[in-house]
Amino acid sequence: MIEILDVCKAYGTGNRALRDINITIEDGEFVFIMGRSGSGKTTLLRLLIKEEEPSSGEIIVNGIELQRMRRRQVPRYRRNFGIVFQDFRLLKDRNVFENVAFAQRVVGASSRAIRESVPEMLKLVGLSSKYKSLPQHLSGGEQQRVAIARALVNQPEILLADEPTGNLDHQNAAEIMNLLWDINQMGTTVIVVTHSEEIVEQMGGRVITLDRGQMIEDEIRDGYQE
Ligand code: ADP
Ligand code: MG
Repeated sequence: MIEILDVCKAYGTGNRALRDINITIEDGEFVFIMGRSGSGKTTLLRLLIKEEEPSSGEIIVNGIELQRMRRRQVPRYRRNFGIVFQDFRLLKDRNVFENVAFAQRVVGASSRAIRESVPEMLKLVGLSSKYKSLPQHLSGGEQQRVAIARALVNQPEILLADEPTGNLDHQNAAEIMNLLWDINQMGTTVIVVTHSEEIVEQMGGRVITLDRGQMIEDEIRDGYQE
């Protein structure tokens, strides 16, 4: 469970990115964080993974108060999260298999574990046949699938996606959203940041809206698609 309690974040420049944010997210939820550019969405995600510290308030994840966590505990803490970005962030000189395997190598997984889980993940995202391809030979939608496989290969509890469909056309965006939905159905908590009204309208579900650093809405919406 994620508890964000009275959180404010001002950057050194005096920029107030978040103001009095209160959000509770239960295990297994699918949550949209909506809001225009500059509304504080990415800042919220960075606070969750302890890349930034709140100026005030607290964040508690699985009962652990982040502010009290020791620095050396942070890498392990971050393994609770898989993260997907708008610009995919794949290693350009490595093929699909290696891009996914890389996430396992950095946590010291055995070659055997890698040989087992990478094909499993690629199957999950529908890219089994492209395991030898380089990112540049894939479509944007396929590249984002690789990034999702990489984010999930260490079996995080929570998947954070920051504008995952921002670089994709309508069709690919819809497919990526359906994949994220399936992943949530398998038990992973999914938090998707987007500024796309269209996507949110389609999917429905819990939508938290930020506006200039303030939470202006937290509601369950109906979607119009299965
Ligand atoms: P969003 O992801 O919704 O576009 P951000 O969280 O990136 O919003 O930014 C929220 C506000 O904080 C913006 O005004 C932005 O300029 C500011 N901001 C973000 N990151 C930094 C930073 N590292 N230093 C200073 N200001 C920042
Ligand atoms: Mg952002």
